[in-house]
Amino acid sequence: MARLVEGAIDFHVHPPWWMRDVRRACEHLARVEERAGFRTFVVIAFDGDEDLLDRLKPQDIARAAMESSDLLAYALHLPWLSRAVIEPEKEVERLREELKIHRRRPQEIVACLEATKGRGLPVISYNPSIGPERFADIVRRLEGRILGVKIYPTFHFTPPDHPSLHHVYRAVEDIGGLVIVHTGCDPGLWELPPLCRHARPSLVRRAARTFQDLTFIIAHLGAYSALKPGIFFDEALKALEDDNIYADTSAVDPLYVEKAVKEVGSEKLLFGSDYPYVQGLDVDSAAGEIEALGLEFSHLENIFRRNAEKVLSRHWRRNDAAL
Ligand SMILES: [Zn+2]
Repeated sequence: MARLVEGAIDFHVHPPWWMRDVRRACEHLARVEERAGFRTFVVIAFDGDEDLLDRLKPQDIARAAMESSDLLAYALHLPWLSRAVIEPEKEVERLREELKIHRRRPQEIVACLEATKGRGLPVISYNPSIGPERFADIVRRLEGRILGVKIYPTFHFTPPDHPSLHHVYRAVEDIGGLVIVHTGCDPGLWELPPLCRHARPSLVRRAARTFQDLTFIIAHLGAYSALKPGIFFDEALKALEDDNIYADTSAVDPLYVEKAVKEVGSEKLLFGSDYPYVQGLDVDSAAGEIEALGLEFSHLENIFRRNAEKVLSRHWRRNDAAL
């Protein structure tokens, strides 16, 4: 499959959770990406221990549901969400199992680089249970083998500008990497807007202003939300005014991508497929949706290749000796 833009780069993809062996999962990704016309791709891990969910107290869930009652009243298309709100303990138990299924430890995900013959660039996930200082040590030890770190303010219960993360950001800066931050809501109970309040682009911007040598990527353009699509989109556009902030198009309704190009241009946008996490979309169809917007070719070149090349030339310092 040839893409409109040659040499396209997918900046947001995950190892399929149903293949527990990370090497197999990443070999699969390499095939999927190749078939869709992508040579290089950024493989993002999720990590988090079950004890994180102890922070999700039934009374907080009840309060978040109350505050979202106007939205929930119209969320008949999301029956699982009402179930989760009615039986929060059961939902938290289910989420414990989900965390086990989806998590990939840093030591695990780095194997992706070799398994994909250097085409899949690993991004490890922060894990608050490890503690920021110990996690910073892990980052330093993986120099030359990872592109950077992903923060999930929702699942990690940590706003991206939290001082504890400064240890982590400093380590990423030391190894020349970048930081990707999930923004918007997230599946499960994190669809309730009060529970995704940490995942705001304005908070990414605060961190980016403290760490100006680091590049921060706002995943999902702040728009991801089943109850309130486009929830923090305007904040994401404002944050893109800063030089060291980019955003990816993963799991974003293409209409928001079009709107972003119209309002702030295409110099800060990176294509991301979010494969295999968006139901009904694979790498090819995610790319096809954006190609079909009818944007000028120069915008497509920016989104699919040029911006990614610029970011990677600055932050991807592969160390073959470390392989
Ligand atoms: Zn993702």
